Amino acid sequence: MPLAFQEQSADQSDGGRRVLERLRQESLRLGFSRLGVTTAEPPPRLDHFSKWIDRGFAGVMEGWMRRHLSLRRNPDNLLLGTRSVIMLATDYDARAVHSRKSPDRGQIARYAIGRDYHDVLRSRLNQLGRWLEEAMPGCKTRGVVDSAPLAEREFAARAGLGWFGKNTMLIDQRAGSYFFLSGLLTTVSLPIDYPVEVDHCGTCTACLDICPTDALPEPRVLDANRCISALTIEDHGPVAETFRPHFGNWIFGCDLCQEVRPWNRYAPGTEDPELQSIENEEMPSLVELLSLDKSAFRKKFHGSPILRAKRVGLLRSAAIALGNHPLANCDISAGLHSLCRALQDDEPVLRGAAAWALGQWRQRIPTKAPQIIDALQAQLADEQDDSAKYEIRSAIGQSK
Ligand code: SF4
Repeated sequence: MPLAFQEQSADQSDGGRRVLERLRQESLRLGFSRLGVTTAEPPPRLDHFSKWIDRGFAGVMEGWMRRHLSLRRNPDNLLLGTRSVIMLATDYDARAVHSRKSPDRGQIARYAIGRDYHDVLRSRLNQLGRWLEEAMPGCKTRGVVDSAPLAEREFAARAGLGWFGKNTMLIDQRAGSYFFLSGLLTTVSLPIDYPVEVDHCGTCTACLDICPTDALPEPRVLDANRCISALTIEDHGPVAETFRPHFGNWIFGCDLCQEVRPWNRYAPGTEDPELQSIENEEMPSLVELLSLDKSAFRKKFHGSPILRAKRVGLLRSAAIALGNHPLANCDISAGLHSLCRALQDDEPVLRGAAAWALGQWRQRIPTKAPQIIDALQAQLADEQDDSAKYEIRSAIGQSK
């Protein structure tokens, strides 16, 4: 039933606060964890964002980010007449532990061990939007969950959902940083929340110190060219040789700078059945991953955020992870077999990564070196791609 409050400007009036309170209750009912409201004015740190792109820190996302920079400045570009931005935090399964930690298994960032949160949150945003449109007849809404260029963190910070941690992610004093952000734009003007004014990170630099690739050159500045999370998810090309050993077992995302955060020690996680991590999916077998053809990959990761890495990106990272642990519990024959098969894959990037991994095995398992060199030389004879050729030659130990 429409609320008695009929104006499109709720502002700070009692009526506005009543609408907001009911909206908050509805958001909790739908499974969101926290809600904050801010105005549609451009967020103050957008200049910082464009300078960050100019410094070359956006990595492979630069083109997309530049193209959408002007859209990000004003939510009106996404929904004409936007007056309020409702930001929603949704806790995810922070307790998902990489319990089967083993060198022959790949590690996936906690947020991605389960259903694709985009699907879950989009459906909830649509329901919340419909609720508001019914409560405030004539108002319009648009839900955004990574689906449109909205400066989500900036708006969320201004709406009081957390402060910027030194690894650039938002932190909430009670919930830590293991949460998703989504936004609901609306043409109705709601009472606003206020930003967290205090930087509760203090002198702590744990997230900067733990980063294996020095992807945080200064507090609150991320270099996506070096970040394992960006490299394993967004970048589907060859990985610079210098970073490969630092990947360890990460094949999709990286949680290291979150794990060390003191504020995450008591992160509540979630009981939400749609956002639970899937048991036994947190550490897939690297050998099994390397056996996935295109259709098996799509089938295995249907409805999972991991699809974003694409088959070539995920299998490339799996090959690198295997290269990092040649002497582990891993079944050496099975590992060799899977890398040799990847060496003949259709994708040159995967052939290059497999060659690099075989080169690591050649050096660390001398008994297998002749077999490895034979496989590399056979592939080199047929190889057409220059980058893959370079990797194969390096792996054999030939001059580059
Ligand atoms: Fe560094 Fe990993 Fe954090 Fe990226 S996600 S900044 S690689 S610790």
